Amino acid sequence: MPRTHGDSFLHVDRITHLVPVDIGMARYDVDPKNNLADVAFVVRDEWQGKGVGTLLMRRMAEIARARGISGFEADVLLTNKAMMRVQALSRPARRHEDAGGAGTADDTALSAVEILRTEKGGARRLPTRQEQAVLVCVGACLTAVLLASVLLTGVPPGIAVVSLEFDDTLANQFSARSILAEHRMHATFFVNSGRLDRPGYLTVAELRALASDGHEIGGHTIAHARLPGLPAREQRHQICDDRRALHALGFDVSDFAYPAGEYDSSSAEQVRSCGYESAREAGGIGYPPCTFCTWAETIPPRDLMATRTPGSLRRAHSLPRIQALVRRAQRVGGWIQLTFHHLCDACDDYSISTEDFSTLLDWLAEEREAGRVAVLTARQVIRGATPPPRWLAAE
Ligand SMILES: [Zn+2]
Repeated sequence: MPRTHGDSFLHVDRITHLVPVDIGMARYDVDPKNNLADVAFVVRDEWQGKGVGTLLMRRMAEIARARGISGFEADVLLTNKAMMRVQALSRPARRHEDAGGAGTADDTALSAVEILRTEKGGARRLPTRQEQAVLVCVGACLTAVLLASVLLTGVPPGIAVVSLEFDDTLANQFSARSILAEHRMHATFFVNSGRLDRPGYLTVAELRALASDGHEIGGHTIAHARLPGLPAREQRHQICDDRRALHALGFDVSDFAYPAGEYDSSSAEQVRSCGYESAREAGGIGYPPCTFCTWAETIPPRDLMATRTPGSLRRAHSLPRIQALVRRAQRVGGWIQLTFHHLCDACDDYSISTEDFSTLLDWLAEEREAGRVAVLTARQVIRGATPPPRWLAAE
């Protein structure tokens, strides 16, 4: 039976993988005549532009390769706005052939792009290449998609989820704004409400600018209080009144970081009862090389009220060490929270220069494009991990 686009999208063929998610859907089905699989994506508007499409494509390629499929043809169904971005970023299609004849849906195929423009439910196929090789779309370009789908049951090996986190409301962190925007990445700023508008600290206006860029604002107590040992009433004041103050300023605050990573059972309970969805400790993940340490936080985390991290980054943590952390997390598939303080040239032991920060983000962007890294805020990780596992169940 001749296969029209409508067929390929609506018809479930012999091999179909459905990945139903809250933010989008991806599937492929195989045409037995040429052993090529049609790939289709639908992505909700609010999830486009996250730069994680590569992850989805890589996963699809792995599945296809394991099942002996010769290659992919892709139909990309996005809104027009996203499609513009996809087309702007797509590289020229190239043919992938090998001596054995049929090309395979491998990593090189990921660089080929074939896009179907869709408007108002209609579809028009661009000239199709026959044969093997083929397509596949997306890459950093198929913005979006479903990283949350990856998170539903954890991250597959080969992928690290990285969160960029800034603590303590420090004024020089505002320099991160342009660097983050340049790299299309969102960070989480854990702030102390009592420090806002004070000398040396971020202003409310700056924090609003960061939030309007899409960065997450998290809680870190009113005055950076050391929580363990404080009377419960004072703990509650530091944790809950801080959250209330941030809410009153218009910030949607859902994640918390313990000052200095220190907590006890009472403060963890306060954090939970104040309505926070997660809290970050300092520690629990070792720096490489270490044989018997934990390499990455799991998704979802083992304990939402004490998510594990490698601790605060210092000047002594050179870029190669940070990269080694992420590389190792990729091997197991997991979450690495990178905790920064000062963004300046050697102004503090807990600092990173804007140059090094920018270089780090360059590297993360390359890894993201290669489908090995997703950069997400803490909230995106925590909320993405909440729905019941579905990603792996689709296999
Ligand atoms: Zn702190």
